[in-house]
Amino acid sequence: MGTKTIKQINLPASSLGNARTLKVILYGDPKADCKAYIQAGLHADEAPGFVVMHHLINLFDQADTENKIDGHIVLVPVANPIGVSQWRDETLHGRFDFFNNINFNRQYADISAQVAEQIKDRLGSAPEDNVALIRQAAGEILDSIAPPDEAAALKHQLLLLSFDADIVLDLHCDCESLMHVYLGTPLWPAAKDLSAQMGAEVTLLADDSGVTAYDEACSRFWWQLAEKFPNHPIPPACLAATVELRGLADVTHAHAQQDAQNIFWFLQRRGFIKDAAPDIPPLINDATPLRGVAHLKAPAPGVVVFLKSPGDRIAKHEVIAEIVNPLAEGPENRITPVRSGISGILFSINTDRHARPGRILAKIAGKVPLKDKGENLLTS
Ligand SMILES: [Zn+2]
Repeated sequence: MGTKTIKQINLPASSLGNARTLKVILYGDPKADCKAYIQAGLHADEAPGFVVMHHLINLFDQADTENKIDGHIVLVPVANPIGVSQWRDETLHGRFDFFNNINFNRQYADISAQVAEQIKDRLGSAPEDNVALIRQAAGEILDSIAPPDEAAALKHQLLLLSFDADIVLDLHCDCESLMHVYLGTPLWPAAKDLSAQMGAEVTLLADDSGVTAYDEACSRFWWQLAEKFPNHPIPPACLAATVELRGLADVTHAHAQQDAQNIFWFLQRRGFIKDAAPDIPPLINDATPLRGVAHLKAPAPGVVVFLKSPGDRIAKHEVIAEIVNPLAEGPENRITPVRSGISGILFSINTDRHARPGRILAKIAGKVPLKDKGENLLTS
């Protein structure tokens, strides 16, 4: 008999006669030793993850029929029912909440200080006991939060579903981009099997991105608590990753089937599904610091013509793009070259080819942390 169950979570209505729901698909035993949580479309305009979910559900349904699910697996195929409704001018705007313009993947609850207060006199010398204690405290603290509006309630629900998971995968995509992964620094190199299996060409590491993205809200408090209580063993018990499934338009069954299969094999290797996964492919490139990512910004208005593509290795001072201004006099004045300040891998370029000064045109992953990054390491 299969273990699959489906749960609907109601979000509080924010307008009369309108209420939204989160659909949650569960496999395996909720009391199993390991829990994995996967969601797609937190940025609701990022389509590839929804198709990966379609194929992933097929794979888990099949495994469940064959009684091969060993852990507890939770899927939220559409993580942002607010964002998927935000249509304007024939375009879905799923990144920022129309209500307050806050990015749906920013400003998650940071419960580290509250958990520390609750556990400070109760930690022991066994890491597994400390993990259980921290999860219990985190659950109680999250339960006590009363979110003020619908988007806050959504964020709260997503955390409630995942804060106690061993593995959390948040499926996103970038503009025009390579497959890449964001992880907490303390999770590396233990999470190498994720990047390698996904075929990620870039893995970006940060202790703290400065914006409390969803994956960080699940994982960061573990190393914050470990730092605060150095005399007690506290492992980074939640491998939470943001997986960027290439670019916005990279929506094909071939890609999605492969990505779903890779997630399945990653979880199989981690003990969530019976039988052996195939050999893990080699990691394409070692991880680099998120603080080493250069955001290449437009110096002038105009139209962007890229001379380089995602995947290209870039040398310092190399021209990545030209900004064309047809109003300037003379052919040389009509072109403004945009050069990279660092060497590294060009992993993302903006889909929109219109430039205004300061707009991010491209992202390059370098190996050396940059000095001028400030506190917020991610884009708005
Ligand atoms: Zn995203």
